[in-house]
Amino acid sequence: MHTYNPRNVLITGGAGFIGCHFVRHLLRTDRHVRIVNLDLLTYAGSLDNLNALPDPERHQVVQGTICDRPLVDRLLREHDIDTIIHFAAESHVDRSITGPAAFIETNVIGTFTLLEAARDFWLRQQAWDTGQCRFHHVSTDEVYGTLDTDEPAFCETTPNAPNSPYAASKAASDHFVRAYHSTYGLSTVTTHCSNNYGPYQHHEKLIPTVIRSCLQNQPIPVYGDGSNMRDWLYVEDHCVAIDLVLRRGRTGDTYNIGGDNCWNNLGVVHLICEVLAELTGHSASGFTRLIHFVTDRPGHDWRYAVDTTKLRNELGWSPTETFKTGIRKTAAWYLTQYT
Ligand code: NAD
Repeated sequence: MHTYNPRNVLITGGAGFIGCHFVRHLLRTDRHVRIVNLDLLTYAGSLDNLNALPDPERHQVVQGTICDRPLVDRLLREHDIDTIIHFAAESHVDRSITGPAAFIETNVIGTFTLLEAARDFWLRQQAWDTGQCRFHHVSTDEVYGTLDTDEPAFCETTPNAPNSPYAASKAASDHFVRAYHSTYGLSTVTTHCSNNYGPYQHHEKLIPTVIRSCLQNQPIPVYGDGSNMRDWLYVEDHCVAIDLVLRRGRTGDTYNIGGDNCWNNLGVVHLICEVLAELTGHSASGFTRLIHFVTDRPGHDWRYAVDTTKLRNELGWSPTETFKTGIRKTAAWYLTQYT
């Protein structure tokens, strides 16, 4: 199987949750790559997420937006970028309901801007073939919509049926990536991952919110009756999968990534309470009594489940963390942040 070797990598959104783990992963596992990290440092990104990197002189942060075409052009040219790994996005579903415009701007226009810049630099100026460059688009399982209890998990051929403005904007960007491969022959791969968790996640997301609420003795907000189902994957397992698809995935193709680890939200909250009880010596019931059901979000998808057979069979990937070990690592990290 042909293996692609990235040299000069533009990571977008690398000061955010998954991006900062990927920066660490790449510096640790590939001693040749150089990374330019283009991040606008919105409320969701922070340079603190990039503390204590291995081999930091191979990593450089540029603060700016992926919608700035002259900036992206300059970065590609000056750093001789052959690989773009595109994480930058507005990523919070609740915010997409109250303010969808920013999601169109970054997720759609921003992705389009990167694709145009890559097309110009790689195909027109450098005349590189598909083995010399790669655009890895990091997408989500939310583009597939929602599942009923008995429906089979999403596979790569499941039609898109996005329900939130966030999911719609990600689906739109996926279609542009696909079209740039089909129309111009741009060397692309797209991954659709389920819900991630781990250290450095922004405090607005479910798992950090539950941990913080427990540690600060505040109500733990749970949407509806807590029965919505999600598939959870530890963030470092996601990074390993992205790296594998980048190097060994077929160009123009898409791969699902997931933990085969579906839980309803209330189950997740109970697990966190148990793990925090073990770590702190407090009783789990002292935490679970903080559970507080709140009005469900509009258009809240009922169930996500991801079929990862293609990734497992073709590229030999499987996650290393169980939910319990991953939650334990995550809770231990947040304990250092919140206490
Ligand atoms: P995040 O919100 O934690 O980080 C996003 C980063 O992008 C931040 O550092 C932010 O400053 C930056 N950014 C935002 N707008 C920008 C712009 N216009 N230009 C440059 N940088 C900008 O997001 P995340 O959870 O790390 O998600 C990363 C990617 O993975 C997203 O594309 C998301 O759709 C996808 N994804 C996330 C999950 C998940 O569970 N978190 C699951 C599947 C896929």
